[in-house]
Amino acid sequence: MSAPWNGSKGRADASVHDIVLGFRRSPNRLDHILRDIYFAHMPTVHCSRCGQDRDQMAFQPFQNDLGKRAFEEICSVCWAEWLKTQQQLINHYGLNLREPKAKEFLFQNMEQFLFSRVGS
Ligand SMILES: [Zn+2]
Repeated sequence: MSAPWNGSKGRADASVHDIVLGFRRSPNRLDHILRDIYFAHMPTVHCSRCGQDRDQMAFQPFQNDLGKRAFEEICSVCWAEWLKTQQQLINHYGLNLREPKAKEFLFQNMEQFLFSRVGS
């Protein structure tokens, strides 16, 4: 048994347990351990915008139906493109995100940007 997290069969909480143990034993190794887990669990999504199988975005961006749909159907590449476009819209129109109307405007543009299939 070369590492404490190998050979821990049948323990559902093994990974969390071992991160804590590993951190206590050698705190400077935590980065490596977390990075391994990050890549191991990176899910892909068949993106409904670009049509490719790519990395899913890291987390659901907001807690509503559109956020859920974006998280489930849009890849991280397209999401990054939207974030760039969103910033341009905010700058161009001088949007204040604390105003409900500004948010509504951005959500409408987001839905169009992510889900309208131009030419299909
Ligand atoms: Zn995509």
